[in-house]
Amino acid sequence: MSWTQPEPRAGNARTQPEPRPGRAAERLAGARVVAAVRPPASGAQKRDAIFQRDGHRCVYCGLQFDASELTLDHVEPRMRGGDQSGGNLVTCCESCNREKGGQPAWSFLATRPAQRENFLRYATATWPRLRRAVEQAARVNNPTRRPKL
Ligand SMILES: [Zn+2]
Repeated sequence: MSWTQPEPRAGNARTQPEPRPGRAAERLAGARVVAAVRPPASGAQKRDAIFQRDGHRCVYCGLQFDASELTLDHVEPRMRGGDQSGGNLVTCCESCNREKGGQPAWSFLATRPAQRENFLRYATATWPRLRRAVEQAARVNNPTRRPKL
């Protein structure tokens, strides 16, 4: 029953004074402001965090862009069950995003070896199962891999 041990109060009361109430109140007020501002800002914060993680580089064409020219791409589209986690989101330029459309990354990349190479090089934070899907789809669909008869 050691987990029921009472906190050592009496001995510590003098050596560890309570934080000043003024400070605590300030911290609480600050936390409330952050919480109130957060919902609308979190989308933008997440975007910026992903852009920074990927070095503002589109994982498909491999070029770096200004944040205003970048979008977040779902490796596995939401309509196919993809989530909003960082492992499913990559930095993508507007033109690659248009080209990819609603396809999963592995379908898009199956016939685009150059972009696939970029993806495998730069989308390092992507879930391993999604990277594997990209590699597998390439093996199945890449005609240059077909043995010559
Ligand atoms: Zn691009």
